[in-house]
Order: sequence, then structure tokens, then C-alpha cells
Amino acid sequence: MFGRAPKKSDNTKYYEILGVPKNASPEDLKKAYKKAAIKNHPDKGGDPEKFKELAHAYEVLSDPEKREIYDQYGEDALKEGMGGGGGMHDPFDIFSSFFGGSPFGGSSRGRRQRRGEDVIHPLKVSLEDLYCGTTKKLSLSRNVICSKCSGKGSKSGASMNCSGCQGTGMKVSVRQLGPGMIQQMQHPCNECKGTGQTISDKDRCPQCKGDKVVPEKKVLEVVVEKGMQHDQKITFAGEADEAPDTVTGDIVFVVQQKDHPRFKRKGEDLFYEHTLSLTEALCGFRFVLNHLDGRQLLIKSLPGEVIKPGQFKAIYDEGMPIHRRPFMKGKLYIHFSVEFPDSLNPDQVKALETILPPRPSMSLTDMELDECEETTLHNVNIDEEMKRKQTHAQQEAYDEDDEPAGAQRVQCAQQ
Ligand SMILES: [Zn+2]
Ligand SMILES: [Zn+2]
Repeated sequence: MFGRAPKKSDNTKYYEILGVPKNASPEDLKKAYKKAAIKNHPDKGGDPEKFKELAHAYEVLSDPEKREIYDQYGEDALKEGMGGGGGMHDPFDIFSSFFGGSPFGGSSRGRRQRRGEDVIHPLKVSLEDLYCGTTKKLSLSRNVICSKCSGKGSKSGASMNCSGCQGTGMKVSVRQLGPGMIQQMQHPCNECKGTGQTISDKDRCPQCKGDKVVPEKKVLEVVVEKGMQHDQKITFAGEADEAPDTVTGDIVFVVQQKDHPRFKRKGEDLFYEHTLSLTEALCGFRFVLNHLDGRQLLIKSLPGEVIKPGQFKAIYDEGMPIHRRPFMKGKLYIHFSVEFPDSLNPDQVKALETILPPRPSMSLTDMELDECEETTLHNVNIDEEMKRKQTHAQQEAYDEDDEPAGAQRVQCAQQ
């Protein structure tokens, strides 16, 4: 929607940010920005948001054309002209241009162009591919400027002003909101898709039928580098749909790491689950681990070492490669579970007692035992029972929602 309520445009904020009067000379602006930028630079402990604001304010006010638009119409007018922020300088670039000594001044961006939309594709990648790196060929269809008419859409190159909007590209509609209150709505003309121009049927380009663009198949080679992370972006600048008088947007692939059946990844580290028998945990073990690149790692305990249930051990430099530093790798953590036997017969118990430390719990005296009540330990599935209790409690809380707070309903039986 392009509906806009008339409002006073704010065109002083940028001056306030830089701390200069509205009639400040370009020299004054530059001096004020330089001083503020040094004070607020994030490298020197400044607030990055404040620094960005400064840089943005300076970027606008140092450009005579933008400053004029800002002075007259305020911030919003600039945003429209920029087509959603495209073509903005990175504030850090501006900063380095100050101190790098490159000439700063006369803007080379005289013409403000619309920026086409970026096209975002998720790219599913296996952990193996992120470990080793890979290249994926992807075939995509996109619009390119018609070669026959160079994007004019007509044979003669001529176009007429659209009759629907008299060439302005916009239509205005008026809506009555109430007595004496009307709202003016501006929206792009539907007849010319907001371009303001139409082409007569006879004059239409035979290749693009007046659309100015034609679809094209393109194969992109997406290089997935070693150690890339989930959600990391791979950008093909200016490869999205072309359109006349538009800066072509980017095609952006977003890495989506697939789950792995054996390994879990946390940043640069890998986690691997391994179950030992009780004998292995007590007496030592070795096993072969197939790594993500197909290598076989021999994993073994130290002589005499005992592994406890739930214990972690780490192998250095066998985790994920670190992106852009492929010779550095994280850790490979192994998480051990220990499988205990379900029961032992009396002979086994006796045999174990001869080698294991004595049982402290067997030293209770008959007198002490006489004082106690007998109990039975039952098998339980604790997760399931707790879940059932929680659901029950929630149900009860829901049922008794209108009960006064603190009401005591359950009383302990007197002993
Ligand atoms: Zn029109
Ligand atoms: Zn054409």
C-alpha cells in the first residue's frame, strides 16, 4: 500500500546526530563527523548502533543531492529513492575512506536506481560435504533483459505515455473516511505496472512480447567451502532477475545443514555417541570410528583406565574444519554410555566381591535393621511417569482455575 497520511517530515534528526546547525558547510559536516566517528568507533569501545547512525547521517548530508531531498522531504523520501536501502555504503567503508586517504567528496552515484529483489534459496548440505567441501551445480531460471529490443519492449524503441496514468506510473484514489474527511491513496498504475509507459500492439518486440525481459536457464556452480556453518550465505551478486533501469539483485543460497545419523555438530566441534559394555568400561576397549571424510580412526582406552557412564572424552583436531582456515579443526567429543548387565547370579556376585572393594552397605547391624520397615524397589520408566504427572497437574490447574489463591484443599492425614 502506498497510502500515506500527510505528516510533517522530520528533517533535523541527521543534523542533531552530527551536532551541527542546519546550515553547516560541507567542511563543518566533515569535521563534526570525523570527531564523532573517532569517539564512537566500535573498535574503540563505541556503540555500533550509534556509529551506524552517525555514518548514515553523514552519508546523506555529505551528498548534496541527498541532503537537498532530506532537507525538503525528510528521511522517508530518501528511503523510497533508495529502493529499500540498496546502494547504501557500509559505514565502515566510509570510515576507512576517511583515514585511508582516498578522495572523498563528489558523489559518483548521481542517478538513483531501483534495486531488484534478492532471490533466496535454501541449500541442503550433508555434514560430509561441509567437512570436505563440495561444488553443487544448480539450474535456475531467471529473467534477463531481452536481447532483441535491449529491454525497450518495442521494435521501434518508442513508447507512449500510459493513458491510465498519463505517464506518471501512479494512480490516485480518494476515499471518504467520514464527514469532511477524505483520504488520498496513491498506488502504482495497473495498466502499465507503474512504468508510466505503454507500447502499441503493432510495435511490440516479437521476442519478449513487450515484456522487456525473457526467461533464461542458468547453471550456477555453488562452492560449499569446508567448515561452512548452518545458515551461512553464499551470494551470487547481480544474478537475480534483470529488469530495465534496475540494479539486478543477488541470488543468495543459505546453507541448511542436514541432520547426521552418527555425528552432531556444535560450531566447530563434533559429538559422537558410543556405548561400551561394562567389561569394556572397566577393563579397556578399542573401536573403529568412520569419520566424515571416510578415514578410519582407532579409538582406544589407556591401560587401566575406567570409563564412567555419561563421561566425555575428546580427540583434538578431529572436529569440523574451521571455515577459511581448513588446516585448523575443532574437537571430536565422544560421549560414552555403559551397558550394565540386568542381573548377576550368586556365583558371579561372589567372584566380583573377591576383586572389587567391599560393600559398605552390608555393615548394618541386626539392631539397626530391626528398627527399619521393609520396602520394595519397583522398576519405573521415569520420563513417562513424570510426563503423565505434568499433564495431570496442568489439567487440574485448568479445572480449578476459579479456586481462590492459597486455598488449602489437601490436608495431611494425622499420624
Ligand atoms: Zn499507467
Ligand atoms: Zn524484446
